[in-house]
Amino acid sequence: MSLKLDQKVDRRGFLKCMQWAGAGLVWSFSGGVPGSRLLGAPNDKTKAADFSFVQISDSHIGFNKPANADVNGTLQLAVDQINAAIQQPDFILHTGDLTHLAKASEFDTLEQILKGLRQKEVFYVPGEHDVTGDDGKLFIERFGKPAGGKTWQSFDHQGVHFIGLNNCVQLEGLGAIGAEQLEWLGRDVAGLAASTSIVVFAHIPLWSIYPEWGWGTKDSAQALAILKRFGSVTVLNGHIHQVMQKVEGNVTFHTAMSTAFPQPAPGSAPAAGPMKVPAERLRQVLGISSVNFQAGTHHLAVVDTPLA
Ligand SMILES: [Zn+2]
Ligand SMILES: [Zn+2]
Repeated sequence: MSLKLDQKVDRRGFLKCMQWAGAGLVWSFSGGVPGSRLLGAPNDKTKAADFSFVQISDSHIGFNKPANADVNGTLQLAVDQINAAIQQPDFILHTGDLTHLAKASEFDTLEQILKGLRQKEVFYVPGEHDVTGDDGKLFIERFGKPAGGKTWQSFDHQGVHFIGLNNCVQLEGLGAIGAEQLEWLGRDVAGLAASTSIVVFAHIPLWSIYPEWGWGTKDSAQALAILKRFGSVTVLNGHIHQVMQKVEGNVTFHTAMSTAFPQPAPGSAPAAGPMKVPAERLRQVLGISSVNFQAGTHHLAVVDTPLA
């Protein structure tokens, strides 16, 4: 399995490499190269990584339209792909839209499939699909316990500070974080040294990708202002069901593929939404992201791996 997967990465995947270089961050691409091995396996560029983790996004369990009639099956493929890595990630992040309609049965199915992961530790933030109808009640019941009944949380891992934000609060076209959470964020990072590496994960992009389609967060500037003093901030998002990245000062933004269905490139269609592609191409536009973190050298690499 992993050999097949690696060959595909050579063709379609890419390594994005962020290196500390004096006062700024340098972003470089190297096509194909990381494909030899994935997820921190030995003898490759990711070998010296202090740890790795995987991002899954937009599994949309319950979706059943022509763009993908088997979202359970494609999520299972993502699980198989993660399990196949020689060196397992330290944990998994799910960046929202776990379900399509926030139904109990959909959350059940999601949990059932993710129980198959070898690495059991999964951190969640909600997408707008997970909180519609019941204001996130079911989501909080199931996933809010470690966060004290909230939909946002933070934790530390190997000296890196991880912050999970819910920016699906009071959606009005664009994503929104809201005053309560921004205040919490300020308190959360207040005691951290500026040299602490920060990883933020949230569903809707924290940079303005395409506001016409709601692909941005209206108060993201306030959140980023709170994080401004940190030398290395990585922001991982979902929601747009495709890979995009940007570097702005010390902040690197990255969005992941969905495991359910692709969406059109910004502005390339009359509206956002599930995009039907030929069946044989579907698994090439779905996937996961793995992040290898090399704390000693401030080196962080994101590898986007399609499911096929
Ligand atoms: Zn989605
Ligand atoms: Zn979404």
